[in-house]
Amino acid sequence: MSDTVPSTAPEKRATDAPASTKKDFIRQIVREDLASGKHSAIRTRFPPEPNGYLHIGHAKAICLDFGIAAEFDGRCNLRFDDTNPAKEDPEFVQAIQDDVRWLGYEWASLRHASDYFEVYYLAAEKLIRDGKAFVCDLSPEQVREYRGTLTEPGRESPYRNRSAEESLDLFRRMRAGEFPDGARTLRARIDMASGNINLRDPALYRIKHVEHQNTGDAWPIYPMYDIAHALGDAIEGITHSLCTLEFEDHRPLYDWCVDNVDLAGHPELLQPLLAKGLPIEAAKPRQIEFSRLNINYTVMSKRKLTQLVAENLVDGWDDPRMYTLQGLRRRGYTPAALRLLVDRVGISKQNSVIDFSVLEGCLREDLDAAAPRRMAVIDPLKLVLANLPEGHEESLDFPNHPKDASLGQRRVLFSRELWIEREDFAEVPPKGWKRLVPGGEARLRGAGIVRIDEVVKDDGGQVVELRGWLDPESRPGMEGANRKVKGTIHWVSAPHAVAAEIRLYDRLFSVERPDDESDGKGYRDHLNPDSKRTVAGWVEPAAAQAVPEQSFQFERSGYFVADRYDHAPGRPVFNRSVTLRDTWAG
Ligand code: ATP
Ligand code: MG
Repeated sequence: MSDTVPSTAPEKRATDAPASTKKDFIRQIVREDLASGKHSAIRTRFPPEPNGYLHIGHAKAICLDFGIAAEFDGRCNLRFDDTNPAKEDPEFVQAIQDDVRWLGYEWASLRHASDYFEVYYLAAEKLIRDGKAFVCDLSPEQVREYRGTLTEPGRESPYRNRSAEESLDLFRRMRAGEFPDGARTLRARIDMASGNINLRDPALYRIKHVEHQNTGDAWPIYPMYDIAHALGDAIEGITHSLCTLEFEDHRPLYDWCVDNVDLAGHPELLQPLLAKGLPIEAAKPRQIEFSRLNINYTVMSKRKLTQLVAENLVDGWDDPRMYTLQGLRRRGYTPAALRLLVDRVGISKQNSVIDFSVLEGCLREDLDAAAPRRMAVIDPLKLVLANLPEGHEESLDFPNHPKDASLGQRRVLFSRELWIEREDFAEVPPKGWKRLVPGGEARLRGAGIVRIDEVVKDDGGQVVELRGWLDPESRPGMEGANRKVKGTIHWVSAPHAVAAEIRLYDRLFSVERPDDESDGKGYRDHLNPDSKRTVAGWVEPAAAQAVPEQSFQFERSGYFVADRYDHAPGRPVFNRSVTLRDTWAG
C-alpha cells in the first residue's frame, strides 16, 4: 500500500480536459467547495464490489471519480467494497485493477473495506454504548414483517430497548462466533416510523460464517454496505463520495452513520489503522448521486453478465460481445473512446438510455483519427490480371492515413493475382451499382483501372475467379487515370497476402431493451444469432505484423483489432470492432 503515488499518472493526464471546460453539477460543487475553502484538497474514491467484472456503466463512475481528482489536483482511491465475502473472488479483484489502469487512471491508494473491519467493529460498539444500536433477535422473516411498507410505519422490535450492556455482550458474542448465521443482527436505533424505510432501524451487522478472501476466517460477522461505505469514506477523508441515484434514499443513513460514529471526534476508533500503519485522514464526506449510464441493446447488471458466462451463452467474461470492460477492450474499444462516451453523455441526475450508436460513434471517431489503414479481404474472390506477366511483382507506396501524414507510408506488394471482395462483383448488377460487372471497369485502390473480361465458374455455377485487363496507363497520377470510373475497390496481392481468422462481431442482443420482461421473455431470448461469425480472409502483410490489441481500419470494411490473446503475426486473428457506418439505423 502506497500513499505517495499521484492520483493520476502525469502522462495520462493529458487526456482529461482542463477542469474549466466541464460544467456538470458535480464539478460545480467541487469548484465551489475549493473556492469557499470548505476543502483544501479533493478526495474521491471508486468503490467496486469485487463480485464480477466491471462493465461499461462502471466506466462512467471511474472517469468521474478519477477524472475529477485529476482535474482538481486531488486524489482518488480504489476501494474494494468487500463486505459480502460469499460472492467475492480474487480474480475479480485483479481484473478490476487492470480495467482502471487500462482506462488510464492510477489510484492514490488501494484500499479494501476489509482493511477497516476493526474500525467498523469499534464504531458499532460505540453506537451500542451510545444507545444508538442494539442487538436484535428477530429472524430475517420477522424483521421483514416488522419493517412496514411505503404507506405504513414499521413496528419496533421487542429487543429495541434492551440495555446497552446486554446488547454489547451479545454483539461481542456474535463477534466471537457463538451464534449461527441469521440468529441475530446489530441494528441502528433510528426511527421505525420514518417515511424512509432505510431509516427503520436498518441492520448494521449480520452473522455470516463465511471465509473472506482478504481476512480469512477472522470474522464471523460482517458489516452492511451502508455503515461500511459511510465509514470507509470518513476514514479516507473522502470529500465527495459520488455514487449512482439508487443510493439517494440511503443518503440519510449514510449521514447518520458518519455523524453518529463521528470518527473525527473519536480518534481512538482509528487506533487499529494507526497500528497497521495505514494512512488515514478522517473527515466528513458528502455523498452526491448522479444517474447511471444505460445503453440500449445491452444488459449491464453483474448478475446478468455472470449468467451469460455461466450458461455459456458467450465465450467468457472477455468475449468481445460482452459489455464488460474486458470484453469491450478485446472487441477493440479504446480507453479514449470510452472517455469520449462518458464526456458526451455528461453527468446529471436525469435517468436516460443512451442509444448504442452513440457508443459506436465514439469508437469510430477515435479510430478514424488514430487507426492506420490497411487492406484486408474478408470474403475472397480471385482476380487475375491476365495482361500482366506471370510472376509480376511490384511495390506501391500507400499512405497509412488519408488525413494524417504523420502516420507515414507503407509498401504494399502488387502482383498479377489478387484477392478482392466477392461482394464487389455482380453478374447482374442492381440499380446504381458502381463496382465490377462483366465487361465493366472499376479502380483497384492505388493500382489502376481494371476491366473484367472473363468470369470463371465451377460446375455448380458459382463464380470462382475473375480474369481482367489492367489498363497500364491508369495508375493514379497518370493521364489515363482521369477517365470516368466511379467505383474503387480494395484488394490484396494473393501470393503475398497472409491468411487471417476474422471474427465478425455484432451486437449481442437484437432488441433495444433485452431487459424488458413485459412480454414474458427474458434477455436470453433476445440474443442476436448473428452476433459472431468467423471467416477466413486475407490481409496484407503490414496488417499481419500487428501487435495484439493494435487497431486498423480495414479499408471499406470497418475497424478491426488484432485479438488480445489469439493473434500472432504468423497467424493473424482480427476482431471487428465496429463497422464503418451504422448498419442498425432506421
Ligand atoms: P450492478 O448493479 O451493475 O451489478 P453495482 O452497482 O452493484 O453494479 P458496484 O461494484 O457496487 O456495482 O459499483 C461500483 C461503483 O460503480 C458504484 O459507485 C456504482 O454507483 C457505480 N456504477 C455501477 N453501475 C453504474 C452505471 N451503470 N453507471 C454509472 N455508475 C455505475
Ligand atoms: Mg453494488
